[in-house]
Amino acid sequence: MVRLRERGVSSVALQFPAGLKRKAAEIADDLSDQGFSVIISGDPCYGACDLSLDLLDYADVLVHFGHTPLISNPDVLYVPFRVDFDPDVVRSALPFLRGKAIGIITTTQHTHILPGIVDVLRSEGYEPVFRSGGGRTPEPGQVLGCSFEAARIPGISEILFVGTGIFHPLGVQLATGAHVVALDPLTGQATEVDADKFLRKRHGIIEKARSARHIGIIVSTKPGQNRYALGKHLLSLCDRAYLVFMNEVSPDELLNLGFGAYVNTACPRLAYDDQIRFPAPVLTPGEFEILCGTRRWEEYVVDEML
Ligand code: SF4
Repeated sequence: MVRLRERGVSSVALQFPAGLKRKAAEIADDLSDQGFSVIISGDPCYGACDLSLDLLDYADVLVHFGHTPLISNPDVLYVPFRVDFDPDVVRSALPFLRGKAIGIITTTQHTHILPGIVDVLRSEGYEPVFRSGGGRTPEPGQVLGCSFEAARIPGISEILFVGTGIFHPLGVQLATGAHVVALDPLTGQATEVDADKFLRKRHGIIEKARSARHIGIIVSTKPGQNRYALGKHLLSLCDRAYLVFMNEVSPDELLNLGFGAYVNTACPRLAYDDQIRFPAPVLTPGEFEILCGTRRWEEYVVDEML
């Protein structure tokens, strides 16, 4: 609110990811009562990579909720969403840690708790450390599904991920080769991450893609997911591939296109998390290089946008 007043704007566009959309009307009420003219983006939103910049044709400023800054635009304000928990919950992960020097990482909802976690770990004789990955992850200790850079900490081979879901810690293990422990701070459940099963599945998907007559290389038109240059590089590796530009990468649209396999250069999580929903194998760029013989399986890389 203060930031809006300082800017002297009169009209505001609001954008929320799925989990926060229900707050739209309440926040719009609040801003309307303050004299702002308010519009709301009703489209799906997956991250700060996915800004509704088109709404700036109708409003002075776009307020994007739930994520940290990713695309620099003077007319966009980012309002991250924070979720609290008691840092003491980290004690349930201690039996799984193998060393004393621990890198700690989390998602943007919890970065504000990391100093409290550091205090608890230090009181137990550990040497915790966290740092900013920069670029797409500006907050210290923050990782995204497309950037595990904050987990690459010199001299650290033990990582504690504090957050929900298995995708981030799995990606961190593949990106760093570290021993990774994942702690869900809301349930207090801790697990050691093992990427072997995941890699076996990915190997099967690459093999399935070998029989495809045509391969679609998906290039996103979302501002923070566009990797056109990478798409062109991948295109040069295979004479039965075509670039396919998409805004929403959905199972229905891939089915309608009818390619035997796809390579995803949009949000890396699409190939990993959504494979089960897709009608054909969807490879990451690195997996496509393995398919084309320009990368060895032993050189498997997790897909990131650094
Ligand atoms: S590219 Fe994917 S993982 Fe990265 S910010 Fe966007 S939605 Fe999140």
